[in-house]
Parts: sequence; structure tokens; C-alpha cells
Amino acid sequence: MSSSGVVASSALQEAAWNAGAVAPLELVRDGIWTVGIPMPPGPTPGGRIPCTLTSVVTDDAGGVHVVDPGSDSDENLGVLTAAIAATGHRLDQVRSIIVTHLHHDHLGLAERLRSATGAPIVLHRAEQAALDRLAADRPDVAAERTRLTAWGVPVERHPEILTLVGRSATPVSLQADVLVDDAQLLDVPGRRMRAVHTPGHTPGHLSLVDVDARLVFTGDHVSPVLHPGLGLGGDDGNNPVLQYQRSLRRLGGLGVDEAMPGHGYRFTGLAQRCVEHARHHQQRTDEVLDALAASPEASIFEIASRLTWSAGWEKLAGFSLRSALQQTAMHADTVRTGSA
Ligand SMILES: [Zn+2]
Repeated sequence: MSSSGVVASSALQEAAWNAGAVAPLELVRDGIWTVGIPMPPGPTPGGRIPCTLTSVVTDDAGGVHVVDPGSDSDENLGVLTAAIAATGHRLDQVRSIIVTHLHHDHLGLAERLRSATGAPIVLHRAEQAALDRLAADRPDVAAERTRLTAWGVPVERHPEILTLVGRSATPVSLQADVLVDDAQLLDVPGRRMRAVHTPGHTPGHLSLVDVDARLVFTGDHVSPVLHPGLGLGGDDGNNPVLQYQRSLRRLGGLGVDEAMPGHGYRFTGLAQRCVEHARHHQQRTDEVLDALAASPEASIFEIASRLTWSAGWEKLAGFSLRSALQQTAMHADTVRTGSA
């Protein structure tokens, strides 16, 4: 699945990924380790993803900082505790829990880790706002039915989507202790760890640059093994496609070559990968543009039915149909705002 210009810089993580196994603890730089924290059983987007790549970063005051603690479970707290011990540190040395975005496989364990350590949870300000919106967003079947009608979804296809309303696995009640803004240096003594707001996957997705280690923690914004989905943290009034394209240019332009993603493996060729992600989503926008040019009055459902879907349009149902319609609507909005 790797592509030209993008090369795994961790043979261990690449071998684990190829074997469908959880990545072992690995020293990345002086004072920076990464360990795979298992995903819960069941299907994951883009096929089976065995783990989240969680980073353990030490500071020069004896503290430990965890980036993306992973999915929530007793077992996972044990895995992370053992990994921290293997680096020669203890849980009570954890000074901050930095989370790239609100998805359960990144944020899930944060609350349990905060309880165990007293360390603050750090999020981008826009991600806390997204969490708050999701928490306030009561399941609303009527609103969803109105949306499906506006998208031109035939009524016989409504039930399979309406039944999904209210079934979100996101831990929606979490309150972070520290909210950061773009370009801010995080409180990691002795390290220049800079926040980069990279919206698109979610509204407040946070990437991190360790300026001196020349390493970018990309969360789910950039991935060596799949093209991230967009608009997966609720609606904040911005177009996720346009935001994502801007965020890619931002991260690709940092001049740092090596990336530590949330899944897959560490790799070099970050700028190249950003270009590939941009091209992938631009192709989808162009497809929607062509469909709209051919039939300006076509509904979102009709446009979606003419696009190419890896599973095949006829096979899309329930959650995957809802997701396909949402992606189509986002790209149609991108076309209509004239920024395609
Ligand atoms: Zn995610």
C-alpha cells in the first residue's frame, strides 16, 4: 500500500502493520518512544487496523507526556503502563495527555489515564468545541429524515440510515484541561513541541511538530496506509474538504520530512504524502464537478450513485451509504463554493 516517495522509517512498525499485528515499543529519538495500543475488536475504517500508535515523550524536568493514549479499556491502560515502565518511567511521572482528535481510538483512554495520573488532557480549542457540540447534539430522527429528503434519498432507503441516529461511539462528555491554539508551544519542558491546527478529518484536529527532533505527529491527518476520511467530527460550519486541503499544504510545507502517524508506521516523505492525499480528494471533487456539470439538478443521492466507490455503489448500505452520501455532499458543497 505504500506509494512512491513515502518510505517506512520504522522496519518494526512496517512489519507489524503488514502482519496485522500490534506495533511493539520502539525508541524513535532520544526521549521519544512509540507503542501500539490495541484497537477494540471489530471492523475499523479502511479495513482492519490493529492498533493506535501512541507516543511517550519525556521532558528535561523528569516528566512524561503521552500523545494519543489510544482506545479505552483496562487492558490498554495496562499496556500503556507497561510501555512507560519499559522506558524507565512511571505512571506518576505523566505530566500531560496530548490528544490529536476526538475519535475513540485516540482520545478513548485519556479519561482513564487522567484519573490514574492527575495529568491534564490537552486538546485543540476547536476540538473541545466539536466535542461539546456532539454532546449537545441529541439524536434527532426528524432532522435526519429532512436531510435524507434534501439529498434525494428514496424513502425505501431511509430506514437503514434512520436506525443509525444516536449510535455514536464518541466519548462525548470529556472536558480537556488545557486548550491550545495553532502555533502554540506545548508545556513540555526542554522540547519545542509546537501545535499545528490541521482541520479536515475533524474540526480541531491537532498535529504536533517536535522542532528539534524533526518529527511531526500527524494523528489521522496524514497516513501512509490509507486516505483519511473527512468531516468526521460533526459540522462546525466549515467545509472539511477545503479545510483539509489547506491543512495538507500547511503540514507539507513545514520542511520536516518524517512523520509519526496515528496508524500504520513511521515514514519519511511527508510532503509527498500530503500531495497524494490532496490529489485523492481533488479527484473526488472533480468527479462530483463533472457529475454536476452533466446534470446540474441531480440530487446528492444521484451524484453519489455515479461516483466510483471501492466497495461498489450497489453494496453500500446503512452506515457506509450514509458516509458515502455525506462525503458526496461535502464535495458538492466544495464545487458550489467555487473553490474546487
Ligand atoms: Zn480519526
